Amino acid sequence: MELGALICKPTNPLCHQCPISKKCKSFLKKDFELTKKKKKNINKYFLLKVYKKDQRYLLIKNTKFNFLKNLTIFPMEELSKPKNFNKNLNFKMSNMNMNIKIKYVKNIRKLQKPYWINEKKLDVYMLPSFTKKIVKYLEKN
Ligand code: SF4
Repeated sequence: MELGALICKPTNPLCHQCPISKKCKSFLKKDFELTKKKKKNINKYFLLKVYKKDQRYLLIKNTKFNFLKNLTIFPMEELSKPKNFNKNLNFKMSNMNMNIKIKYVKNIRKLQKPYWINEKKLDVYMLPSFTKKIVKYLEKN
């Protein structure tokens, strides 16, 4: 028997036919309001490295983080509980609150398959909105 589909329906549950009514908290309290569990946001801290040359930014394919997997992002590293962290940007991604500090670098160690994108031609690239927003932020600041 499919209890959820046939008996415990979101509206007008058939409690008198329900085999688990004696143990059901909603039935015992006579409270059938649906409540959503609030997801707890997790604060995470990232150092985002910007390497710019001839009006182009260096990006990489993300194989490191579980978010934006295999998409093109700026090189980043996660910091664990940094002190005096002055974030430049903040993003909410599912239940993650991303705090990002931008660091311009003059040299970058060899990266596998780096992508170079021209800051003036953002629309021609298949980039996640996360990366586009960062480029726009860099252009304004
Ligand atoms: S008794 Fe509880 S589980 Fe059963 S139908 Fe009613 S609300 Fe659903």
